[in-house]
Amino acid sequence: MSQVSERLAALSPSETLAMSQKSNELKAQGIDVINLSVGEPDFFTPDFIKKAAKKAIDENFSFYSPVPGYPELRKAIVNKLKTENNLDYKPEQIVCSNGAKQSVCNVLLCIVGPGDEVIIPAPYWVSYAEMVKLAEGTNVIVPAGIEQDFKITPAQLEAAITPKTKAIILCSPSNPTGSVYSKEELKGLADVLAKYPDITIIADEIYEHINYVGKHESIAQFENVRERVVIVNGVSKAYAMTGWRLGWIAAPQWIAAACNKLQGQYTSGPSSIAQKAAEAAYTGPQECIEEMRQAFERRRDLMVKLASDIPGFKVSKPQGAFYLFPDCSYYIGKSFNGKKMENSADLAMFLLEEGHVAAVGGVAFGAPGCIRFSYATSDDKLVEAMKRVKDTLAKLV
Ligand code: PMP
Ligand code: GLU
Repeated sequence: MSQVSERLAALSPSETLAMSQKSNELKAQGIDVINLSVGEPDFFTPDFIKKAAKKAIDENFSFYSPVPGYPELRKAIVNKLKTENNLDYKPEQIVCSNGAKQSVCNVLLCIVGPGDEVIIPAPYWVSYAEMVKLAEGTNVIVPAGIEQDFKITPAQLEAAITPKTKAIILCSPSNPTGSVYSKEELKGLADVLAKYPDITIIADEIYEHINYVGKHESIAQFENVRERVVIVNGVSKAYAMTGWRLGWIAAPQWIAAACNKLQGQYTSGPSSIAQKAAEAAYTGPQECIEEMRQAFERRRDLMVKLASDIPGFKVSKPQGAFYLFPDCSYYIGKSFNGKKMENSADLAMFLLEEGHVAAVGGVAFGAPGCIRFSYATSDDKLVEAMKRVKDTLAKLV
């Protein structure tokens, strides 16, 4: 008999991970599925990072680390923030966790309580809204469709703010849309937020380095909001280290202290070996980032071309991350063998079962008319996958 708590019963499972798991199950049955569901680089972790991890094992980094991470790693992150982002932080403002996913959740659990509102521009990454629910807060979703390149305007932001607003979660470059806020656009949002000093700004910058329009812009650069920004970042995407589980925040001192306290009772510091690997990533040669970025940019161009060729798809040109998020509402309401596609989750399931391509329906991202394809895989697989998508969708009547 299942007697899970109300809190857990209200939680939806991660759709990105669920679709990936379904795709792996079909593969295990011998079906040739192309998995464009989960978002993770297909590259191996660079050798110099792996070497540092092996060295850490041999040097017996086998004990508990300080809860927020080793001082050397936090210093390396402070240095990265200074040299790459021109932002000044102290090591005490950095807390390392088991992936940026835990970092976001830590912050929300530390600052959000019953009755508090959190503004989330949609489309949003699947886990934000569920994490707010875990913290017993209320999601205030601000929709931004493909016609506005999936980015909210300062006026939309201002209209969503109430006396209960506790935080906003911004993600740029964005998962799932690939949209990137320009410096001017971020300044527009910062100017609104500057008028509301009690709102914490959570800036998820995990795709910082997968950017096709130039330099990364952080909302933390604006003095009028700077002291209320929590930057979330990590090594998963930039250094192809998703399985190592190492993310971090750069936060106001009080939020860093709160996350330290929470983590001290909850998980302790992240893996000692992953921390030594991350330290090597931040202090070693950085060419690997640009090599992977270029590969993703080539694939972005390929995907835009292939998807634009599919009847009914509306395609935006992503400026970062490794996702394509076409609007496929043209197919919603159509049927296959008498089964109607009620939304893009049905469409994703149809593509998986009938076309053997795994993608994620936009419902989970707060955009029921869209579907997400992760293009972090080889060019050959992308060509084959999009051919299957096109042929499979053509079966809908
Ligand atoms: N934020 C966003 C927007 C993401 O896409 C991901 C990827 N899962 C994360 C945070 C978490 O990354 P990780 O936990 O692997 O560091
Ligand atoms: N960020 C990736 C995705 O959105 C990883 C899966 C997850 O953590 O949800 O697919």
